[in-house]
Amino acid sequence: MNEFYDRNTGKRGEGRVTRVARLPAVACAHFIVGRCRYEESLNPGYEPGYRCQVLARLESAYDEFLTRADAFALEEELAAKLWRARCESLYAKIGCPDYEPGDKNTCPDCALLADDVCLKRLPECSGRCPRYTLKNRG
Ligand code: SF4
Ligand code: SF4
Repeated sequence: MNEFYDRNTGKRGEGRVTRVARLPAVACAHFIVGRCRYEESLNPGYEPGYRCQVLARLESAYDEFLTRADAFALEEELAAKLWRARCESLYAKIGCPDYEPGDKNTCPDCALLADDVCLKRLPECSGRCPRYTLKNRG
């Protein structure tokens, strides 16, 4: 038995507290590693808090790199290789406490990075909500 306050009367009482568990939402089109990307897909890039903080800090270095690559007329493949090396050395200085090793050819090579979004920064999905949309399995 648990003590509780009746919402209507404000009086203290005793009884069983029933928690209504939401159904799992892994099949939702907006679900990704326990997070919800509904808002991000409605307005991509609108919420700065969802962005990877490492990439945000590398933005000006990247712009500078592009300007130089243009000036030296670097081929795309070489420019990408050089940027990756530069990015890795910058990332080693910046770091991220939430970093999880990835297996992509990106910098940072973080498993939580999706384009420029950090999946850990998206709101958590706490189960099926009114926005639940079944994934297209076609
Ligand atoms: S956890 Fe990964 S994606 Fe998120 S901010 Fe850190 S490096 Fe970027
Ligand atoms: S069920 Fe709702 S909260 Fe969960 S991922 Fe889908 S839309 Fe987002």
